[in-house]
Amino acid sequence: MQFKSTRNADNIVTASQAIIQGLATDGGLYVPSTWPEIELDWDVLKDYSYQEMAYFVMSIFFDDFSEADLKACIDAAYDEKFDTDVIAPLAKVGDDYYLELFHGPTIAFKDLALQILPHLMKKSAEMNNNTNEIAILTATSGDTGKAAMAGFADVPGTKIIVFYPQGGVSSIQEKQMVTQKGDNTFVVAIEGNFDDAQTEVKNLFNDEALRAQLAAEGIQFSSANSMNIGRLIPQVVYYFYTYAQLVKFEEIQAGDALNFVVPTGNFGDILAGYYGKRLGLPVGKLVCASNDNTVLYDFFNTGVYDKNRPFKLTISPSMDILVSSNFERMLFHALGDDTDQLVALMSDLNTKGSYTFPASVSEHFADYIGEYADEDETKTEINRVFSNYDYLIDPHTGVASASLQKLKDKNALEGANVVVSTASPYKFPQAVLTAVGEDVTDYDDDALVAGIKQFNQGEYPNAINEIRDAEVSHNRVSTVTGMKDLVVNILLGDA
Ligand SMILES: *Cc1c(COP(=O)(O)O)cnc(C)c1O
Repeated sequence: MQFKSTRNADNIVTASQAIIQGLATDGGLYVPSTWPEIELDWDVLKDYSYQEMAYFVMSIFFDDFSEADLKACIDAAYDEKFDTDVIAPLAKVGDDYYLELFHGPTIAFKDLALQILPHLMKKSAEMNNNTNEIAILTATSGDTGKAAMAGFADVPGTKIIVFYPQGGVSSIQEKQMVTQKGDNTFVVAIEGNFDDAQTEVKNLFNDEALRAQLAAEGIQFSSANSMNIGRLIPQVVYYFYTYAQLVKFEEIQAGDALNFVVPTGNFGDILAGYYGKRLGLPVGKLVCASNDNTVLYDFFNTGVYDKNRPFKLTISPSMDILVSSNFERMLFHALGDDTDQLVALMSDLNTKGSYTFPASVSEHFADYIGEYADEDETKTEINRVFSNYDYLIDPHTGVASASLQKLKDKNALEGANVVVSTASPYKFPQAVLTAVGEDVTDYDDDALVAGIKQFNQGEYPNAINEIRDAEVSHNRVSTVTGMKDLVVNILLGDA
């Protein structure tokens, strides 16, 4: 399989080349250039382990990797760093299923992809005789940064620089990042919001003079954001695995359509579900659930993508995004892989901050439903699920769960529903405890996590134990315009 850029149909690369580059140098994103027809025999697939399913799915996309190499990457990623053998367990709550993607080392779903990305990247470099040092630049809305560092810390031949919005992440998220170990990890608080940081990271990637300056020293950029297909494709795995598990436990019949409700920010998680569908997975609707930043919800309803609006800080910070990077991929597919039209819309976004989809949205995005939940609806839903089912969900999952309830009230869905549960309640204790009625005004971080533990949450996850008395080892702060100098200083060693 080959990958082509959304912005230049002649820019075609192999999987390993796309993984090393991260973003295409023309500013586009790499997408699969073909969709092979594969046979899905659920009688066989239902008994696959997570690792076997990972090989089944990833070998379709990453076909320039040898079987041994790809399996080595998979085995190194999905091991006892996860606190359950099944890696991505399902909980049945009422009539619906919650897919728990928070059993990895940083207790958020980003681990499912970022535990394997460094291994894929190292192999990709070897396969292409690339001996450059790889510098990972990552803007994070809170979870990617920590999960990426957990994957890349002390990986030889790599450095990773993470930018997060100062004041825009939860205190546990911040603590997880600023206590990160590893000589090759760098963490910077940005005086700006996530979009500011992400836009500047994209600018640095596309800065040809900077790229040349680094190349002269044997350094090249890559991305650990979900713009990298090395991160996107591993996320397709859990859609297949979930389906197989539900068939196995006779909750659904092979062939039944299954809906996924996905709390969405950068549109990576939900796009992986769409890629699953393109491979023949029987997905019914993909519900794109937004928080108060309703850019995508509005798009699905009006066909206008408009980022000219206030950026709202919510209790689900990993979804506080106005420019969803991976939406460019979906837009491209919805336009029938038409590069010229895509480039025109992206240029509108760049100059006017908005664009209008040139055809019927309900027709071209028929696989999707846009829904949202505001702050009150999210808190009420966390409370409802806990009161009724004794099941504690984090605010991101709360947005998805509340969106599902709204759609059920409108009879907008048929068949079984899976809520994609993207973070552990331990990661957002303040919001979760408040939602279930605790007064946490005077709680410090220790009291907050203890508060979660008392609600039948078992032992502390490793991620919580690790930060409880870890030392702060990162204290850099930068303006958005200062990011470039900082990157040069870190990478060229004049810091
Ligand atoms: C990153 C993240 C999301 C959003 O996922 P996208 O792939 O960016 O749409 C949702 N919830 C949590 C907890 C996250 O960390």
